[in-house]
Amino acid sequence: MVFSNNRTLRILYEAQKEGYGILAQVCYDAQSAIALVRAAERCQSPAILQLFPVTLMYGKGPFLQFCLNLAHQATVPISVHLDHATDIEHLELALSLAEQGIAFDSIMVDASHAETDEENIGIARPYVERAKKCGIPVEVELGRLEGGEAGLRVISDSKLTDPRKAETFIKETGATILAPSIGNLHGSYLRPPNFRLEIVRELRKTLGDQVPICLHGTDELPDELFRECIKNGVSKINVNSWARDPYVQVLSEGLKTKAMPEAIEEATEAFAAACERFFRLFGSAGKAGV
Ligand SMILES: [Zn+2]
Repeated sequence: MVFSNNRTLRILYEAQKEGYGILAQVCYDAQSAIALVRAAERCQSPAILQLFPVTLMYGKGPFLQFCLNLAHQATVPISVHLDHATDIEHLELALSLAEQGIAFDSIMVDASHAETDEENIGIARPYVERAKKCGIPVEVELGRLEGGEAGLRVISDSKLTDPRKAETFIKETGATILAPSIGNLHGSYLRPPNFRLEIVRELRKTLGDQVPICLHGTDELPDELFRECIKNGVSKINVNSWARDPYVQVLSEGLKTKAMPEAIEEATEAFAAACERFFRLFGSAGKAGV
């Protein structure tokens, strides 16, 4: 089996089996990556350190290597994932680095902008195959999420995931992790979220236990909805602004009156505190090494 010892999958399969969720936290810089690892070690929780393609393009191999070192040298299981790789240059960079030995533990190949499932599969498949050769499992999106986050494409027409198409989609793309569209959206929710959790339950049934489900679009969600998603079968939970915003706010405030190292440390702690809250909420705290 190609992925028998893959970090991301080991973390997600364990979470799925035990019924808790994994925080996949977007990190934009060295401090936020350090904060996530610090929080995970404090809570004895597994975690996923996630980079947007824009951060990979900025920091390239040396920054990815830094994140891999941080994650893999932590005292708890942490993997490094590339979120929403849509553009050829992003995928090319991630895969060529992997071929040189600087490899993400998992990547998302996002072709959800395609008009049809067939087109989505056609775009994703060659990348999935190339990633597989480097031992990297791939996350794909079936359906389409609306909205936008800083550094990502903005999408205006969403498409709910049809669970009946999921098995074929996973088989045809060759992917391992599925991100469904269940009423979730990227960025701010204009109306209260109305999640179709029956889609997740249906996916769990059709996909079996080898295909973890990832929830995108978690800004502003109430705690109870996170719990419901996990209960219904979500195991990877992407989080961005919840930790990013307090970090940026504490840093910008701190820099007005404090020395830089002190302001950075306070901001790092603000980011870590947001991560710790999620480890407890998702039930992953205390699960490292269990
Ligand atoms: Zn997303």
